[in-house]
Amino acid sequence: MRIGHGYDVHRLVSGRKLILGGVEIPHHLGLLGHSDADVVTHALMDALLGAAAVGDIGQHFPDSDPAYLGASSLVLLGRVMDLLAREGWRLENADLTILAQRPKLKDHIPQMRQNLARAMGVPLTAVSVKATTEEGLGFTGMEQGIAAHGVVLLEAMAPGA
Ligand code: MG
Repeated sequence: MRIGHGYDVHRLVSGRKLILGGVEIPHHLGLLGHSDADVVTHALMDALLGAAAVGDIGQHFPDSDPAYLGASSLVLLGRVMDLLAREGWRLENADLTILAQRPKLKDHIPQMRQNLARAMGVPLTAVSVKATTEEGLGFTGMEQGIAAHGVVLLEAMAPGA
């Protein structure tokens, strides 16, 4: 078995969509980035790649590459899973934590879990998404950005599986 951790931050700006775990969330600010800036999915992908020790998303999907301009992070997540399968790994579970002062994310979490589980081809029960504020402190508390952490456990696939 292998454990992996991922962390990501994106800046909150006006004039951008707020997409978290593949859910477009109504808010007056959105996340700035080259792709859809889905900070939750990015932290998850980095955790997956880290557990398999095969680099990070900046290396696999460089933001200098126009192919990834506006890219759906859920599609990229599917590619990461394909890569892990080729390396002989399957996902046991993923646990994600979103750090955001606003908006309230509770009502969107079931859809995020569904989107991520479907994109990874794992049962819903294998994917946890949690959200917390940082009590008004720091850049998430000041609503300058949103951060996310991801932790995953990979298991080596049985030979021939
Ligand atoms: Mg990112």
